[in-house]
Amino acid sequence: MKKQQLGKTAIEVSLLGIGTLTMSPMQRDLSLADGAAVILHALAQGITLIDTAQMYGSYPQVAAALSQWKGPAPVVASKSAARTREAMQAAVEECLKQTGLSHIDVFLLHAVRDAADIAARSAALQYLREARERGLVKAIGASSHSALTVDLLANTAGIEVLHPMYNRDGIGILDASLAEMTDILKRARARGIGIYAMKPLGGGHLRNDAAAALHWIFASQVVDSAVVGMTSSDEVDMNVALVKDEPVDEGFARKVAGRERRLFINAGLCQNCNACVEACQQQALRPGEKTPAIDHESCILCGYCAPVCPKFAIRII
Ligand code: SF4
Ligand code: SF4
Repeated sequence: MKKQQLGKTAIEVSLLGIGTLTMSPMQRDLSLADGAAVILHALAQGITLIDTAQMYGSYPQVAAALSQWKGPAPVVASKSAARTREAMQAAVEECLKQTGLSHIDVFLLHAVRDAADIAARSAALQYLREARERGLVKAIGASSHSALTVDLLANTAGIEVLHPMYNRDGIGILDASLAEMTDILKRARARGIGIYAMKPLGGGHLRNDAAAALHWIFASQVVDSAVVGMTSSDEVDMNVALVKDEPVDEGFARKVAGRERRLFINAGLCQNCNACVEACQQQALRPGEKTPAIDHESCILCGYCAPVCPKFAIRII
């Protein structure tokens, strides 16, 4: 598979990366062996970028795959929503310990919301700069759903890599149109920032048009890579074939696309505290009578609402 340099970093990544949110305990909850098998299959098919996060709980699956992999070391990118220096230090140490890696290739501030959020995380970012100096992390950056925030982050000292919400239909992009996000990413890329796209299939909304959506994102020339969550070898095979422009049988594509997945709130557990409403950046949740109401059209299955729920009432089914 074609590879690209991640901006001005010395890191090279495959056009297609594997995301581990969908296999993690937050979503499909694949067993350690099954999750590792999917990652290993992706590596064997030429994917060299594995995306994970402190929030996902997928470090054990990544570690199990890495311990069995005999080929060249893949690039591992992780992220944390830590807001203080101490919490970010703990997040980096947790990633190193749980993955068994001696360094992390890319470590990001996770899901930055706006200018105030960038300011609030300055100590966490400062720790990442120091971790890079010490060789614990090779490149640092941030992820965001917000186009205006991506623009600010591209101009923030030390940021080398961006992981923005980006897909053909602009699904989940906050604060700006798809065209505006494209211009922002082009400017960031011209400054030498590495970019790997989040949710190129719109969090599942584009799963029935995956070929066109993936072709669009790579033809756009504004990203170095795009990560797709994958939970089976079939999904890996199909996405790899699409990226390599190889023909994919329609029946196979339909089978892989599978059934639609949805956010579910267990009314028997929910105490209607609205913490999830606050956490959702997509305004897919609004206060309801007994539980928050879900707007499934707006929900991109990012999973940000689940960890804040004190009753573990949120699932993706
Ligand atoms: S409802 Fe939850 S999973 Fe859906 S977009 Fe909002 S935070 Fe993400
Ligand atoms: S955070 Fe959990 S308990 Fe609170 S409203 Fe949302 S689903 Fe219900």
